Amino acid sequence: MADNVHNVLIIGSGPAGLTAAIYAARANLNPVCVEGGGLGSKPGEGPGGQLMMTSDVENFPGFPEGIMGPDLIKRLRDQAERFGTKFVTGVVSEADLNASPKKITITDELRGESKVHETHAVILATGASARLLGLEKENQFMGRGVTTCATCDGAFYKDKAVVVVGGGDSAMEEATFLTRYCSKVTLVHRRGEFRSSKIMYDRAVANPKVEIKTNRTVVDMEPGKPFLSKIVLAGTNEDEGVEESLDAQGLFIAIGHTPNTKVFRDQLKVSANGYIEVEGAGSRTSIDGVFAAGDVHDNHYRQAITAAGSGCKAAIDAERWLEANELG
Ligand code: NAP
Repeated sequence: MADNVHNVLIIGSGPAGLTAAIYAARANLNPVCVEGGGLGSKPGEGPGGQLMMTSDVENFPGFPEGIMGPDLIKRLRDQAERFGTKFVTGVVSEADLNASPKKITITDELRGESKVHETHAVILATGASARLLGLEKENQFMGRGVTTCATCDGAFYKDKAVVVVGGGDSAMEEATFLTRYCSKVTLVHRRGEFRSSKIMYDRAVANPKVEIKTNRTVVDMEPGKPFLSKIVLAGTNEDEGVEESLDAQGLFIAIGHTPNTKVFRDQLKVSANGYIEVEGAGSRTSIDGVFAAGDVHDNHYRQAITAAGSGCKAAIDAERWLEANELG
């Protein structure tokens, strides 16, 4: 075994990747964690993933007073570093997961330099990116009026009017969920037909706090204190030509997620919507020695704590795989 072959390379530095790093480091595996924008991630998503765009996190166990998303990531990173995790900054530009050892090319885009890392095991923890509408102000107000997670942020909008965008199950679920807190929820969908299941649509429509506006899209928003003050809608059917301004403090975007698997999705078994498939409730993927953790394989729960839990599983699975194969 060459000395320069890593035992385990963890790709991604959100709660899944950092928890995997903590466990792998405490198991004396000297893990290397790649922190970067994440594969295929959008501008503004630096190391740390989606939590870096979140303000207060009130549902991560152990922080009764809440914690800011970036602070939580820093604590997890410090904990991983304390036990010997080495961090490499860059994005994975190429990956040969079937080679032995596996070859991962990490590119530092600022310096324009690439380096090939060899590793026995790989943990993929590159997350998923919430799809956005493409408005300039979306990024400006992200975490301060614009959000992509009702479970995380709904409680901050108590007694406020909000807008949910989307026509799938997530939008229906978020609209219904938000009525627990909000005074009014306007669900805005770009078409007249809904993609969501009928039962979830019916539940949202039946809620007296929910108003549905179809053939509309969000085109603008205005700041307020502490969140937004107005959200501007326009008609998507040319003949309607409507434009209306709603008094609303929060914009919940629920138009789907894209798993960050661009570089390796052709090598692995992925689901129809691109999420990495794992064996049972564990982390083993279709390639021996490759494990997945967090939102890159979980389209269902998508929470920081579930991502952290699956990072723990992936590190334990990797450790046992290395032992069984007499590697590391
Ligand atoms: P989805 O099913 O892909 O729906 C995305 C929605 O966003 C669609 O209505 C789409 O409009 C709209 N959209 C996409 N891009 C847009 C844009 N640029 N501007 C405006 N609207 C846009 O995504 P999802 O709702 O997140 O659901 C993902 C998967 O998870 C689905 O399989 C869903 O059934 C599942 N899920 C299940 C549950 C549950 O059972 N409890 C809850 C949540 C999600 P169009 O319809 O016009 O394309």
